[in-house]
Amino acid sequence: MWLMCSRRCGSGLFRALFAEVEMDAQGAYLGHRITEPGYLCLNCGAPAVDLGVVAAEMDAEAAADVAPQPLEVLCPICETRVEILPGESCPNCGTDLEVSIG
Ligand SMILES: [Zn+2]
Ligand SMILES: [Zn+2]
Repeated sequence: MWLMCSRRCGSGLFRALFAEVEMDAQGAYLGHRITEPGYLCLNCGAPAVDLGVVAAEMDAEAAADVAPQPLEVLCPICETRVEILPGESCPNCGTDLEVSIG
C-alpha cells in the first residue's frame, strides 16, 4: 500500500473510510482491518489514492496486452534450435522461417 493525496498536498497522514477497529473491553485500540479501499487525506480532506493498487492494476493490464511470444523452432537449413518471433528469420543463417501460430 502507498497512499497519495489526490490533490498532492504533500500530507503523509490519511484516514481509512471503511475499517473495523478491534478493541479490548476498555476500548483500547488493538488493531484494525480495512474492509473496503477508501481513504481521505487528513490534511486537506481530498480522497487519497492507493498507488500500490494502481500499480498492480497497471501490471495486470500490461500482462493482458498479449505480447508476441518467442517460438522455439528447429531451423531446417542450419538445423539449429532457435527462438524467434513470428515473421522473423533464423538468427543463425538468415533463412526465412514460416512460423504459424497455434
Ligand atoms: Zn491532501
Ligand atoms: Zn538457420
